[in-house]
Amino acid sequence: MIDLSEFKRDTLALHAGRDPDGNHGVVNPPVYHCSTVIFPTVEILLETRRDRASGAYVGFTYGREGTPTTRAFEDAITALEGGYRAVVTSCGLGAIAASLTAFLSAGDHLLIVDSLYGPARAFCEDFLKKFGVEVTYYPPSIGAGIEALFQPNTRVVYIESPGSLTFEMTDVPAITKLCRQRGVTTIMDNTWASPICFQPLKHGVDVSINAATKYISGHSDLMLGIAVCTEAAFIPVKKTASGSGYCGGPDDIYMALRGLRTLPLRMKRHQETATRIALWLQGRPEVARVLYPALPDDPGHAIWKRDYDGASGLFGVVLNACTETQFAAMLDHMSLFRLGYSWGGYESLVVPTYPSDLRSAEKWVAPGPSLRFHAGLEDPDDLILDLERGFARLAQAA
Ligand SMILES: *Cc1c(COP(=O)(O)O)cnc(C)c1O
Repeated sequence: MIDLSEFKRDTLALHAGRDPDGNHGVVNPPVYHCSTVIFPTVEILLETRRDRASGAYVGFTYGREGTPTTRAFEDAITALEGGYRAVVTSCGLGAIAASLTAFLSAGDHLLIVDSLYGPARAFCEDFLKKFGVEVTYYPPSIGAGIEALFQPNTRVVYIESPGSLTFEMTDVPAITKLCRQRGVTTIMDNTWASPICFQPLKHGVDVSINAATKYISGHSDLMLGIAVCTEAAFIPVKKTASGSGYCGGPDDIYMALRGLRTLPLRMKRHQETATRIALWLQGRPEVARVLYPALPDDPGHAIWKRDYDGASGLFGVVLNACTETQFAAMLDHMSLFRLGYSWGGYESLVVPTYPSDLRSAEKWVAPGPSLRFHAGLEDPDDLILDLERGFARLAQAA
């Protein structure tokens, strides 16, 4: 295998996680469909038992614990984000659940950002609290002020930046510095940026989560999660993921690895198109605010510029007050910005959002309805035309 350590990120995205010379010259790694792994002797079987018990997880023992296909994808994302090893899960939420439960026990305290992904908030409310974990939500802008919220039993700080729906930036290095001093584990959801635009472990985070469902796979056709870990964090996360049954399917992992090869190119185009549309939206009378840290007047822009290498195609918009009929007239008839959850695929999407329902540390106030747009890879002129026609329908419905 070639030594990848000297190469830049765009090259790594193409060459990490495959070994043609060890695979009959075939460019892509094979797909292992596997439950059973055969051991030639009792001695070798016992070796894999010791490997598993020690938490090393070097060998392959059973499909649930991963195959060479799983390992290829884990190695590729680890090479891109920097880290020791990664753990693949059945979806992004699985990676979040496995990472949180790896480090939290009854009686522990979790500090978690108020602007986090809704289903992750629901996991804290519906499951972690039930199992005796204390949960405190912190405002995304808190930075080093998080120190005031630490308790003697604080074990984990969870970050998502920019946050889901409202896209507020968090000062990651300011938080991880304090956590390192106290031995508190930090977990970050990096799905918005993808490994191309931000590397959490290089900013002091212990576990970086990507919903590979989104940009990494990039084609809106699979569910997968991955958690990249420091050496100290790897064994707890791997044990918890395997022990809870969070494993990925071989064909989905193969397709995610295939998507990864074009991720650097796709991210550039998503950012270009999103920036153009966001600037256009800022000039529209129907728009109160655009929420996108790549815009120079966004409150999170300074942090984004300091720490990030790029932006994705996902951003928020707050409209001025309008009626529900007007809002529906706009969204019901879009040609390209179709109405649907998820994002990160090649196509554009829009969805109404209700951020104030998901806040407890800080109130979220907006003059009108909120939307989340995903700028896909279509021609940006066509996307703007679609929006222009949407605003015309909104005006007509008044
Ligand atoms: C979609 C998403 C997830 C969850 O990923 P799934 O694969 O859908 O479970 C986690 N975090 C963020 C920010 C997301 O947008």
